[in-house]
Amino acid sequence: MLPSELLDGIDLVAAGRALPQDRWFEVRNKTSGQVLARLPRMTAEDASAAVDEAAAALEPEPPLETRRAWLEAIAGLLQAHKSELARIITLEHGKPLKESAVEVEYTAGFFAFFARQMDRLKAEVLPEKLRNCRWTIHRRAAGVAGLITPWNFPLAMLGKKLAPALAAGCAAVIKPAAQTPLSTLAICGLARRAGVPDGRIRVVTGPAGPIGQVLCRHSAVRVISFTGSTEVGKLLAAQTAPHVKRLAMELGGNAPFIVFPDADPAAALDALMANKFRAGGQTCVCTNRVYVHESLAESFSRAVAERASRLKVGDGMDPTTDIGPLIDRAGFDKVAAHVADALRGGARRLAGDDPPRPENDWGAFYPPTVLTGVKPEMLVCREETFGPVVAISTFRDEDEVLEAANSTPFGLAAYLFTRDAGRAGRMIRRLRFGHVGLNTGTGPTPEAPFGGMKESGYGREGGVEGLMEYCETQVVAEG
Ligand code: ADP
Repeated sequence: MLPSELLDGIDLVAAGRALPQDRWFEVRNKTSGQVLARLPRMTAEDASAAVDEAAAALEPEPPLETRRAWLEAIAGLLQAHKSELARIITLEHGKPLKESAVEVEYTAGFFAFFARQMDRLKAEVLPEKLRNCRWTIHRRAAGVAGLITPWNFPLAMLGKKLAPALAAGCAAVIKPAAQTPLSTLAICGLARRAGVPDGRIRVVTGPAGPIGQVLCRHSAVRVISFTGSTEVGKLLAAQTAPHVKRLAMELGGNAPFIVFPDADPAAALDALMANKFRAGGQTCVCTNRVYVHESLAESFSRAVAERASRLKVGDGMDPTTDIGPLIDRAGFDKVAAHVADALRGGARRLAGDDPPRPENDWGAFYPPTVLTGVKPEMLVCREETFGPVVAISTFRDEDEVLEAANSTPFGLAAYLFTRDAGRAGRMIRRLRFGHVGLNTGTGPTPEAPFGGMKESGYGREGGVEGLMEYCETQVVAEG
């Protein structure tokens, strides 16, 4: 039944309790609708039991060298099974196989990076005696970590949380997105092969609300790392507040992409194409708003439309596909509503058309679409479209575009293209975004801390900061 040998024995990971027939849900191929797997629809009690099991697995704490070996082994296993993992991602998510393979590499990079950072967890003794004491600073494992992940990078979004959690000595209870839980189960199976004891990683599949509440309330969960919508992030912040829990949140974005007249237009075009259409535009670092200087706007927009119309939409398993289906019908409806709203408001469509609405949560294909004459009040500017839509506005000067770019409650990623170093410096200092691409559309890397400003969240993933999210600092003053 399960679509990969990497998923054999997943019942052991997914708590595997005997469940009645009506307590299973189906995971489907996002292109064909074929059922890939049936997984348990776990309850709050199951989630609570998973947290108890994880808490019981915390002690004895495995030595730092053991944890380093786990991370290195998982990185190696991810590389060794790259094509099979990529297949699982493409089946359950829909993105092109070539992108899924890059996602596996990127995920392995987090395990390899945090394996190299383990020495940062060693106790540190201050060089001088202060207040007549010797001072030692310990980084202790925070405890059980609740990891809640989205569907857009089903493997990578987990890897960037699980690697530092294991490194720090935490146990993890994972709640994957219902659309894409198979990548999670596959990597957990690999973690077991790498020697991570069973209880140290538990996966809870099923309705998000009750499971989320358990993670927020259970006293053994000391840190929650969440990637997803701002709406759910706010709910988790409220739910954890009475329990005083550490929360790291990477929430929605609304990334501006700014092209100044002194930019290299060919480089800007290449970067926009790669950045905007990754995962069909369904990532929080994907460009959402394009601001092109008025002197370039017409030629640049035409070039984008020409390139966009050449992208091939289809089954991600086909190696020639550039864009797979959107994740589900709700995703399709949002994109269609944004485009309709822009057209009603006077925007022009240079590429794309109105595709048929999918009847189900699969086969939700949407053509690459390019809109010009976009205005700030349109939905494509105000909200994250999460689809293959390039929404282009024009600007005259630095102050105007800076104000437009910052006029959003979000602050995750921004991109600017200019060859003037002075301008770049002025702009970057005032852009309120946690990740800025200067003359590049590149997103995060395991080695650098990534996260948002404003309502895009707090806490960081990747970099040393990403490791410290899972540690509690304890200081010993020894007289
Ligand atoms: P998206 O729009 O990407 O689906 P969500 O924020 O809805 O974003 O989902 C991200 C993750 O959060 C998924 O694993 C989802 O199941 C989970 N989630 C959704 N609602 C809740 C909730 N009330 N409590 C905890 N997790 C939730």
